[in-house]
Amino acid sequence: MTESAMPAISARAAVSLPSPRVMYRALTRRDSAYEGVFLAGVKTTGIFCRPTCRAKKPRAENVEFFASVAEALHGGYRPCRLCHPLDRVPAPPAVVVQLLQAVEANPATRLTDKDLAGLDLDPSTARRQFRACYGLTFQAYQRARRMGRALHEVRAGKAVIDVQLDGGYASTSGFRGAFRRVFGKPPRGARADDCLLARRFDTPLGRMLALADRQGLRLLEFVDRRGLEKEIGRLRRRLRCAVVPGSNATLEAAGAQLRRYFAGEQFEFDLPLAPVGSGFQQDVWAALRRIPAGKTRSYAEIAVEVGRAGAQRAVGRANGSNTLSIVIPCHRVIGADGSLSGYGGGVWRKQRLLDHERAVMSVGR
Ligand SMILES: [Zn+2]
Repeated sequence: MTESAMPAISARAAVSLPSPRVMYRALTRRDSAYEGVFLAGVKTTGIFCRPTCRAKKPRAENVEFFASVAEALHGGYRPCRLCHPLDRVPAPPAVVVQLLQAVEANPATRLTDKDLAGLDLDPSTARRQFRACYGLTFQAYQRARRMGRALHEVRAGKAVIDVQLDGGYASTSGFRGAFRRVFGKPPRGARADDCLLARRFDTPLGRMLALADRQGLRLLEFVDRRGLEKEIGRLRRRLRCAVVPGSNATLEAAGAQLRRYFAGEQFEFDLPLAPVGSGFQQDVWAALRRIPAGKTRSYAEIAVEVGRAGAQRAVGRANGSNTLSIVIPCHRVIGADGSLSGYGGGVWRKQRLLDHERAVMSVGR
């Protein structure tokens, strides 16, 4: 599931984009009718472009299509300097241009209000204008850019040094910075056995990051989830270990079973799970795993099941702190009134997961 067929189509884009064949043709013809419809990431350069970019067109197998800037960034791509895929008509305000330049000057770091003030920008105005321009907060933009860079080459068995050499990034220090920002200090000298191995999976609902060690799966999240960097940081501190790109039997199984899950072939996950949490959290997570696919429970029902009737708020918090998305199906818990309530990966994903399970289960019956 890691490397999709060519030309690749991103996750969420699958439902909102023309077919890859049509987009590739538009790309090679520089067809302006497709401006704003898709963005094209070029795997060999790590750059994303508008359909009409005048740069030499890549081979089909080196293209990945995205529906939005955020997805292209999460895919590990940076904006092209020829076609400026972030530019709008009318042109973005000068403060927004300044923000973008500041990020590209040092994409590994997080620009704080103090940094913005140092650039003679009023932080709140600049942030508001950025959001108005792209429908994405400046913070989310920076996070996507960092996460994308760090994840760009996180794939099976790849050593960090190889990642730096062929990641397409001119600046090694920039890459290290992004990796460190997301995954902690560079794992120089760390033995792979003592590390959390990181692998990414492309699913029909977006790219996911999985972390596992010898005990089992520690984390499985959509990469655009808010707070993911903090979650990784907490895990690293609790387990006192570095994160390196790689794979092991648990991650292999997770990938294979996720593929079967999305294909509707099998909803149960049979692999070692090792989520880090309190006794109460573990009880709640175990209860979640007993909810059959295609069914839902309320927070109150789960509270009763773990012997804490009335503690639905605590159950809600434990549910929200689940770090093994899909495998521990916290998406099957909904409000007492049937509302979806929240989901770390976004409510739209919760809805899509439930729809998928219900559709498959009703056919199977
Ligand atoms: Zn371009």
